[in-house]
Amino acid sequence: MSEEKRQYCPICMVEVQPSSRYPRYVCADCDSRATDENGRLLTFANESFSGGFIAKYSETGEVRESHYCFIDGVKCWADEARFGGVVIQPVEDSAPRRASQPDAPDRE
Ligand SMILES: [Zn+2]
Repeated sequence: MSEEKRQYCPICMVEVQPSSRYPRYVCADCDSRATDENGRLLTFANESFSGGFIAKYSETGEVRESHYCFIDGVKCWADEARFGGVVIQPVEDSAPRRASQPDAPDRE
């Protein structure tokens, strides 16, 4: 069964690189439109070379202490990606995704 797996951005439906780990991650375009609940633009980055996650307001550089963001009104959860960078995925209203996944690398 070599069925071609296709994956689409859950926000704008553009085709993205398939990822079994992040089946619902948003594309780079949507990523760049992420805002907080008040519509302020956010940027996400790794905290350091060893990883970690940090969210900042694009305008002021002020750190935002949350993983939540909104893209086109869709509530999303941003986090450190397994192989570096940041991944954003929509959250289910009732079951927010937890920050720590079982196979996430431990860090102090
Ligand atoms: Zn998109």
